[in-house]
Formats: sequence, structure tokens, C-alpha cells
Amino acid sequence: VKILGSSGALPAYNRHPTSLIVNQNERLFMVDCGEGTQMRLADFDVKKGKINHIFISHLHGDHYFGLLGLVMSYTLLNRTSTLHLYGPPQLDDMLNMHIGPWRNEMPYKLEFHPTQALKVETLFEDDQLTVETILLDHRIPTTGFLFKEKLLPRKMIKEKIDLYNIPFIEIPKIKAGADYILENGEVIYNNELTTSPKAPKSFAYCSDTAFNPPMFQQIRDADLLYHEATFTEDQEEAAQKKYHSTTKQAALTAKEINAQKLIIGHFSAKYKDLNPLLQEAIEYFPNTHLAVEGTEFHV
Ligand SMILES: [Zn+2]
Repeated sequence: VKILGSSGALPAYNRHPTSLIVNQNERLFMVDCGEGTQMRLADFDVKKGKINHIFISHLHGDHYFGLLGLVMSYTLLNRTSTLHLYGPPQLDDMLNMHIGPWRNEMPYKLEFHPTQALKVETLFEDDQLTVETILLDHRIPTTGFLFKEKLLPRKMIKEKIDLYNIPFIEIPKIKAGADYILENGEVIYNNELTTSPKAPKSFAYCSDTAFNPPMFQQIRDADLLYHEATFTEDQEEAAQKKYHSTTKQAALTAKEINAQKLIIGHFSAKYKDLNPLLQEAIEYFPNTHLAVEGTEFHV
């Protein structure tokens, strides 16, 4: 996960509005696209042509005002592959207001997938990965996103195919866990023929939101959690009023769901120094990190 923007509503102290990139096996997924995101892609050497899916959490400007510029740049760069965009239904209307007249003449297809904030949905699924919405508690309809890798089949050890003369037709069954029986009746156990696939990983993105226990079950055991921490602990009342979270609430969420690692972000412009936010969070969840722009977090 690469952080492109970590600021709350206002850009401040060289921090930019929200955006990040999820790289799953060299496939790039963008989450939120605040103002200036395409400049951040250039700053951090992210190949924007490799992004085929963009997920927008909600329609506060600091989460999507960069989208229009990016969409237009793709046109100028003669992008041809389909760009899938996921977000609240009104996002499509807004795009149409700006690019409607020539949307059908763009060199690539911009395919819009409306999200809704009433029930959890699977937005994307293939043989490696699913992306689900997470229902968040914010002033307007808002969804987070849960990236979950699938458990891949076991890996065949190539030498064993030759050794036991295994016909290719048997291989899918063995990858799915079956033993192999030789003609003389001898059983070759699966663990001699295959190795375990790598453990599937998960990443939960929760911004913007107030402290939100109803989502805990869904994101339990996430390997990496991004949770907004707009304010320090002493601003709990302000956070509650604005449907944002404090450092303590983000950290307690990570602790409660048994996350491996927590990234806090979406910092208020009132904080020049972010260390106090980090220190507060670490008190409740030691493996907490600041969403410093340009930083990559490995899952
Ligand atoms: Zn917001």
C-alpha cells in the first residue's frame, strides 16, 4: 500500500488530500483521489497506466476532486484499456457534467459501478482477490473498502510430475489437495507432491468515519488496517460532531479487530507535527504507523 495523500479536508504542511495505491501482484488499485493525486503519482513514480480500478469512498471533495484531471489525462495519453470507477451514484452525474459531451469519444471506456452505503457489496472479484465495501459512519453515505486475497491452490512440485509420471489431467485435483495413487496401489500423499500457497492477505481501508464498531466483524484479523485519525484524543467531541475519529479510536479499532498493523491518516490541518498523534495511538496499539506520503507499507 503506497500513500499518496494523507491530509484531512485542507492540504497542509505539504500534506495532500487523501489517496493511496494498493499493489496486489503488480496490479494497481487506487483508493480515493483527492486534489492533485496525479501529481503525486508522478512524484512517487507510480505508473498511472497500470491503474485499472479506482474506488471512491464518498463525495467530500478531499476524496475525489483529483479524479477529473486524471480522467482527462488518460484521454490525452490515449489510454485504451477500460477504467473501472466505483463510487456513490452521484459521482457519475458529476463526471457527466464535465465530460459528458465527449465521454463516448474518449479513447478508453470509463465504466462506472455505483456503490451504496446500506449493505455490504462485493465490488470486484477475480481468481486472486475480492474487494468489498465496508459501511462507515460519516456525515454523508460513505464506504470503506476491504481487499481480500483468495487462498490460491497448492503449488505442484514439478520434479514430482516426472518422478511419478503424473498425467496432466490429474494435476488440478492434486493442486486442490488430492493424493495420487500409483498403478501398483501405492498412495503418494499430497504434501509430498505440493507446497503450500502463500497465506492470503487482507487490507481494510476505513476513511472517513467516526468510531464504528458495527464494521468490526467484517474486518476482523485484517493484516493491514488504514483508519483515519483526524484528531488527537482531546478533540473527541469535535471528532464526534464531524463524524471523524481520534487517534485513540483508530488504535482501539485496530486492537479490537486484531489487526497486524495500523496506518493512521487523514490528519487535520491543525497539526503541524504528527508525532503526538502517533504516540497517542501507540499507547493503545503499538504497531501503528503514520500515513507519510510516499511511504509503502508491505502486507
Ligand atoms: Zn469526509
